[in-house]
Order: sequence, then structure tokens, then C-alpha cells
Amino acid sequence: MSNITWQRAVIKIGSALIAPDGVQCSAQYLLPIARFITASLQAGKQVIVVSSGSVAAGRSKVPISHPASIAEKQAMAAIGQMQMMANWQRFFDIPCAQILLTADDLRDRKRYVNIKNTLRELMNHGALPIVNENDTVAVDELKVGDNDNLGAYTALVAQADTLIICSDIDGLYTADPRKNPQATLIERVPEVTSDIFSLAGGAGTAMGTGGMRTKIEAAQKCTKSGIQTVIVNGRNGQVFDALLDGQVQGTVFEAQRSELSARTLWLTHTLKTRGQLVVDAGAKDALTERGASLLPSGVLQVQGQFSAGDAVDIVFEDGAIAKGLSLYDSKDLQTIKGLKSRQIESVLGYSHGGAVVHRDDMVLMS
Ligand code: GLU
Repeated sequence: MSNITWQRAVIKIGSALIAPDGVQCSAQYLLPIARFITASLQAGKQVIVVSSGSVAAGRSKVPISHPASIAEKQAMAAIGQMQMMANWQRFFDIPCAQILLTADDLRDRKRYVNIKNTLRELMNHGALPIVNENDTVAVDELKVGDNDNLGAYTALVAQADTLIICSDIDGLYTADPRKNPQATLIERVPEVTSDIFSLAGGAGTAMGTGGMRTKIEAAQKCTKSGIQTVIVNGRNGQVFDALLDGQVQGTVFEAQRSELSARTLWLTHTLKTRGQLVVDAGAKDALTERGASLLPSGVLQVQGQFSAGDAVDIVFEDGAIAKGLSLYDSKDLQTIKGLKSRQIESVLGYSHGGAVVHRDDMVLMS
């Protein structure tokens, strides 16, 4: 058994625990989890829940015999989200607060900061934030897609020190324990490597989206950013009694030391790039050696179509050297690339400043 200490945790609870029979919410597994949350709050700790189960909970109200279409699933989520929240609220005297997010909300800097501020206010006011993906509005590329990764993003935005993933399996095993009786539980993972990923099979249950793979992805995102990640079996109430004493009956992925700022973590992990700016050697040196912003004079080529505020890769020869937010859209960049900063205003009729990507909005690739 491993020991952990923590102060602010995100606890992710999967559909298999919320709606074990796959059609409606059940209290069966939630009582020990709710007791753990209440005891942790009483001990002065902070907790944010990431709860799945809206689609599963809504399923009984949208009876269909064929595989559900996207719109049908979204209807289920809209109905089930209410049931899932109501199911949680009955375990707590403090108010539960609903937060519905999509991947797009996490990519947008303003919304990201709003999410962070709201979470902080909720915790300061003694409420329990309960996060889920906004399944009703998000499809495909707008989605995080699974709540393990959503849990990781929530831990990042909330600057938690711990992500606790409650699954229906005891933790990470050396092989799939459902198929291989020799499989043993791995209690500590010092670093998430490709060997660790190779231990993950496919998706776990028909209900949830995730399997071990998405849990390891979540652990990787978190541990790299200094957030320890734990996988425990949420069906085993005893796990939570142990956790209250800081003991993990499951797998602990150890946090890597991280001196990166919250903003850098956001730039690195949450942003999908929409285009590329190919730069010359002078700009590359200015960025990598002098900590400078990217100026239009150093841009040789603009690839892809993107808006102002979108993330772009900054590329020298064949390799990405940095990633950052472009202050101009791709069309205007085609016009100002190669020009001096002071020419921007006269050529475009406006200026967002002399830089194309400001230093504060940029991270260098290691
Ligand atoms: N957001 C989905 C739901 O609430 C769950 C996704 C997942 O479990 O990974 O039904």
C-alpha cells in the first residue's frame, strides 16, 4: 500500500459507479465516496468532483431499441444530467454546483480563467463543484471525449495537487486481470512511459467511454504538471476509509516536479494548434535564446487557416520550436509576414501591437 498526502483533489467517478446497471442513477456505490468527500472537506481539504453518468442516467427516459444516434445521446445527456446532479445532491448538506465544460471552453484563455475563478469561488463558499462534459452541445472534435481526460484538465485548471480516478478495477495491473490470473497490481508508477501505456487494453465497459488507456493519459497529463494521480476501485467502500488515512489501495502515479506556471501548462496541454508559422533563423534565435516575441519580419510562411487568438506551431526548417497564440488571423498574416512591425498599421489599417505571437503567449518545445 502507498501513502499520499493531498490538499486539493479532483475525484473522477465513472458511469459504472453512477449507473451500475447502465440505465439509471444508483446510490449503491456513492455513499462511501460521499462520506469520503464530506470527511475530507471537514478536515479542511478541497474537493472537486468530475462525474460521468448523464448519458447512462438519461437512457431509461429515452427508450430506443436501436443504437442511439448522436442527437438521441445528447437528449439522454440533457435529461440524465439533472438526475445525476440530483442523485449527488441527496448525499450532501452543502450545495452541489453544476459545471458543464467542452474542450473548446478549456482552449479559450478567457473561458479557462473564468472556469478557474468560478471553481475557486465555489470552494471558498463551501459548495461542491461537480463537473461533466457538456454532452448536449459538444460533438467529436469539440469534445474532450472521456471523463478521465476531463478529470485531468479539471485538475490542471483548478491547480489541484491530486487526481483520484474511481474505477471499477483496483488499479493498473501488469496484464488484464479479467483475462490473466497471473496479473498483479502495480502500486507505484514513478513515471508514465510508453511501457506503462502498453499495459493498457481497450475500453473497459460498454457504459463509460474510457478504459485504462484514457486513465493513463490522464495520469500522464497530471503527473507531468506536478499533480499525483491515483486509480482506485470505487466499488470497494473500504478504499475510501483507507484514503482518508492517506493510504492508497490501488495505483499511485507519482507527480513529477513542476515549476511551470499555470499558463504554461494550459498552453502546453490544452491547446490544439490550427496552423503553422515557418520562421527564419534570426527569429528562431530570438525566440529560443533571447526570450523574444515573434515579429512579422521573422515569418517566412503562414500555413493553415486560423483566427486571431488561435494557437499555432512556430516551425523552423522541419521542426516545431514553439507553440503560441497568434495575435493576427492567417489572412492578415499572409499580408504582414516579412514586414517590419511599424508597417503593420499602415498595411492592415489596424494593429494588435508589433508582435505576431507575444512572448507571454508562447511556450518553447523542449
Ligand atoms: N460525459 C459522459 C456522461 O456523463 C461520460 C464520459 C465518460 O464516462 O468518459 O455520460
